[in-house]
Amino acid sequence: MQCSYEKSGKRCQAYAMKESTFCFTHNPETKAKHLQAVRRGGSAKYENGLIPTEPLDLTTPVTLLPLLADTINRVRKVDFDGSIDVKRANCIANLVAKMIEAQKLLKLEERVVNLEKILQ
Ligand SMILES: [Zn+2]
Repeated sequence: MQCSYEKSGKRCQAYAMKESTFCFTHNPETKAKHLQAVRRGGSAKYENGLIPTEPLDLTTPVTLLPLLADTINRVRKVDFDGSIDVKRANCIANLVAKMIEAQKLLKLEERVVNLEKILQ
C-alpha cells in the first residue's frame, strides 16, 4: 500500500509500513527513529569516509617538514595514463613552495645560531 502522506496535493511515493498507512519517514510513531537515522546518516559520511591521523607537533619548521612531505606523498597520485589532475598538481606545487620556505627558514636559523656561537 502507498503511504497516505500528502504535501501540496502530491502524495508520498513510498510504500506504507505494515499495520500503518504511512511510510517510515511519515509515520508519526517512527518520527523519532527517522530523525535519528537521518542524523546518523549525515555524520556517518564524515566519520566513515575519513580516517583520522595521528596529531603531529607543528610548533617548529623542523616538525613541519615531515608533515608537508607526508601530505605531498598522500596527494601525489596519477591516473592510469600517468597524467596528473590539475588540482592535485596545484596542491603539490603549493605544498612544495611551503616546504622550500620552511627549509630556507631552517637554514637561516642554523646560520644565525652559528654566528651567535662565533660572537660569544
Ligand atoms: Zn511517506
